[in-house]
Amino acid sequence: MTDLAWPFFEPRHRELADALRLWCADNLADRFADDLDSECRSLVRELGAAGFLKLCVANGDTRPDVRSLAIARETLAYHSALADFAFAMQGLGSGAISLFGTVEQKRAWLPRVASGEAIAAFAMTEPECGSDAANIATSAMRDGNEWVLVGEKTLISNGGIADFYVTFARTGEGEGARGLSAFIVPAELVSVEERIEVIAPHPLARLKYDNVRIPADAIVGEPGEGFRIGMETLNLFRVTVGAAALGFARRAQNEALAFAKSRRLGTATLADNAVTQEKLADMALANDASALLIYRAAWQQDIGGTDNRRAAAMAKLHATEAGSRVIDMAVQMHGGAGVTRGVKVEELYRDIRALRIYEGASEVQRQIIARDLLKGAQS
Ligand SMILES: Cc1cc2nc3c(=O)[nH]c(=O)nc-3n(C[C@H](O)[C@H](O)[C@H](O)COP(=O)(O)OP(=O)(O)OC[C@H]3O[C@@H](n4cnc5c(N)ncnc54)[C@H](O)[C@@H]3O)c2cc1C
Repeated sequence: MTDLAWPFFEPRHRELADALRLWCADNLADRFADDLDSECRSLVRELGAAGFLKLCVANGDTRPDVRSLAIARETLAYHSALADFAFAMQGLGSGAISLFGTVEQKRAWLPRVASGEAIAAFAMTEPECGSDAANIATSAMRDGNEWVLVGEKTLISNGGIADFYVTFARTGEGEGARGLSAFIVPAELVSVEERIEVIAPHPLARLKYDNVRIPADAIVGEPGEGFRIGMETLNLFRVTVGAAALGFARRAQNEALAFAKSRRLGTATLADNAVTQEKLADMALANDASALLIYRAAWQQDIGGTDNRRAAAMAKLHATEAGSRVIDMAVQMHGGAGVTRGVKVEELYRDIRALRIYEGASEVQRQIIARDLLKGAQS
């Protein structure tokens, strides 16, 4: 786990890490679920009951603390990808309300998200539009005191189990990114067209908005602000995707260490082998570099005052890419056991893959970093 003595942290962060580690040991060890949806619902309720989901939402005008979110995700991901997912989506799904919602919207939704009573989702991606969110085609037309939404979203996490979808749609105030708005859409108005299976299972769906009518005050922020709302929400949580990758990679490092020490190779163990030792050193180096980037970016975000998009992009990019390599090394070190279903490193190999794609693919993170450099921004 991260070195909590680093100057990025305050005593409350160390207390959180201790409490969450204990909770994970008591609640996530040897947990088996055959029904993904009910397991996700249970995890959300349990994390809410334990008080951890409060971290995911704004407290009045105070934004979520990114260091706390990152510590929580690193810790949860170390133990269970699904627990990390359940936690993270409560934040991402309600993030637009936390950052831009009215007092009434915050009051209506955030306490229920924090208690685990309402499951949140973030609906931006469409079949024809992923990385280029400015080209969203789902439309929202004003009709008297209502908005009417028509369109389709895909690859929506919590699709099928969510209670509401924060949905991004075109309202047409301007071209491209300037003509989008964000809306809170209750799940019962949206049809789940297809459940999508991915390599690391979690609830995911394609959704249809077939003349969905919602009240005028279901808009988050002003008409035309949707792109900014979406990007700021993603920016708030971007670092925490890196933290989840770090949790997976640190678990892989520890699994590899334990395996190397116990596996016999002739008269010695795998750990006595110089090539293995080199791999272990590379893993630790990659993970510590990720941790430094993640907690630097999280700390910058919490203290505010600077544009931290470059630091957040670097943290996500490095932790997800380097984390994937670390896990690959751990699989390799395990030999045939590494690709055997049910072995932890095999699970981690699948768990980390999507993190290099969602919430801004690695190529997009590189673009953010390069544009910031070319703009002449100081490091
Ligand atoms: C497991 C999972 C969960 C998801 N959950 C959600 C969710 O809850 N809500 C939601 O709205 N979306 C969600 N998504 C969708 C996700 O955000 C998109 O998959 C992602 O933005 C990429 O979009 P795309 O799949 O359409 O790929 P495309 O945009 O078509 O991109 C394809 C590939 O092209 C490359 N590429 C893209 N842009 C550039 C560029 N500018 N320069 C160079 N190369 C580039 C990248 O390698 C990228 O992977 C999820 C996806 C996955 C896999």
